[in-house]
Amino acid sequence: MLDADFFRRWLTAAGDLVDREADRLTELDSAIGDADHGSNMQRGFAAVAAALEKESPGTPGAVLTLAGRQLISTVGGASGPLYGTLLRRTGKELGDAAEVTPAQFADALRAGVAAVAQLGGATAGDKTMLDALEPAVEALGEGVDSFAGAREAAERGALATVPMQARKGRASYLGERSIGHQDPGATSSALIVAALAQAVPS
Ligand code: ADP
Ligand code: MG
Repeated sequence: MLDADFFRRWLTAAGDLVDREADRLTELDSAIGDADHGSNMQRGFAAVAAALEKESPGTPGAVLTLAGRQLISTVGGASGPLYGTLLRRTGKELGDAAEVTPAQFADALRAGVAAVAQLGGATAGDKTMLDALEPAVEALGEGVDSFAGAREAAERGALATVPMQARKGRASYLGERSIGHQDPGATSSALIVAALAQAVPS
């Protein structure tokens, strides 16, 4: 079962990975965007960590909705409302249960990813965070042992954005010149998914 502590560990681990990879995220965003994705994500996840510390929400749903609100209010770029929606919608799906199964989490995250697609109007193949998030959710199964497979699926999805032409977001303004670069948001999504396996107690 996954409790509030698990979700706190997940978001803390995601923030640590974002800190470690911030320069890379910004470098990717400098090729096809405006070179702020690393700092956007760092600012957002620092606010998430501070809010979780201060308010210590007691259920998985409350952890995720609080984190989502922080991302929406602190990240200026397109990614803030999109990741904020992902976490808020996932949290809302989990309701006020004290613990959830990995299968319930997978279903909630699937709804969260669908909400991102709806908000941003993007689908798989548009060279966005969805190209990592959708395969990750599909790889999630009944147990926490599926988290490693979700990480691999997200990493493959992020790599697969290299030959794509961007059809949404700032990178789409570049047209064909967006081809040949990995999408920054798909790359940060792969980090967030990778953090799931790190949050499982060994
Ligand atoms: P901005 O583009 O406003 O500077 P960021 O640099 O923080 O914001 O985030 C850029 C990332 O956001 C992109 O790499 C892409 O993955 C994601 N993104 C942008 N627009 C959309 C959209 N409509 N749907 C899904 N993801 C999107
Ligand atoms: Mg940017």
